[in-house]
Amino acid sequence: MVGILILSGTGWEGGAVLAAFFVSSSVVSRLTLPPPGFDPKGYRRDHRQVWANGGPAALGALLGFCCGEVGLWVITGSLAAAAADTWATAIGSRSGTPPRLLWSGRVVPPGTNGGVTVLGSAGAAAGALLVATVGALVGGTARLLPVAALIGFAGMLVDSTLGAALQARFLCPVCGESSEWRVHHCGTPTVRQGGIAWLDNDGVNLAATTAAALLALAGWAVSGPSR
Ligand SMILES: [Zn+2]
Repeated sequence: MVGILILSGTGWEGGAVLAAFFVSSSVVSRLTLPPPGFDPKGYRRDHRQVWANGGPAALGALLGFCCGEVGLWVITGSLAAAAADTWATAIGSRSGTPPRLLWSGRVVPPGTNGGVTVLGSAGAAAGALLVATVGALVGGTARLLPVAALIGFAGMLVDSTLGAALQARFLCPVCGESSEWRVHHCGTPTVRQGGIAWLDNDGVNLAATTAAALLALAGWAVSGPSR
C-alpha cells in the first residue's frame, strides 16, 4: 500500500526514492549481524514497522496529486529520516565503543533506546544522504539534496531523543536482557521498566518520520517552490 500510494502520487520519481530507501536499508541490515544481546526484532519489517517508516511518506505523496513537486520533497525528507534510523541501527550495532545517550552523554549498553555512537551517526548521515541524492536527481532539484539530507539526520536526532526520554523500556524476565519490544526474541512477554507504555520503537520511528515530512514541507515552502 505504501508503494502504491507513493507511485500513484509521485510517479516513478517517488518510486525511485522509495526503492533507494528500501533496497539500501535491506542490504545494510543484512550485511551487519547483530552483536550478542542485540534484539533482532529491529532487523525485521512487520506491517507496523512499514507504516512507521513509510506511512508519512505515503500520505505526503498524495500532495503530488494537487501540488506537483512538493509530494516528492515530503517523501524524500521523510524516507531520508527512515533511512537514517535504519542505517544508524544497523551500522551502529557494529561500533567498538558503547553508545551514549544523546543529550546527557551517559554511556549505556548496546541496544539501549536512544543510545548513539559516532559510527551509527555516520551511518545515519550516509543513509540520509543517499536517499536525498536520489530524490534530488530524479526530481531535477539540486536544492532538495542538502535540505533532505539535513532533515533525515534531524529525524534521527528526534528518534534518539524520544527513544531515550519517553520510549517504553522492557526487560525479558527469562533472559534478563533489556529489549525495545513487548515480546522478546526468545518468545517471552517482557516486563516494562520505564517510559510510556504504548510508545514503542515503531511509535518513536513514526514520530521521527512525521516530523521529517513536516520539515520537508516547510523546506519546500521556504526554499522557493518552482512552478
Ligand atoms: Zn528472552
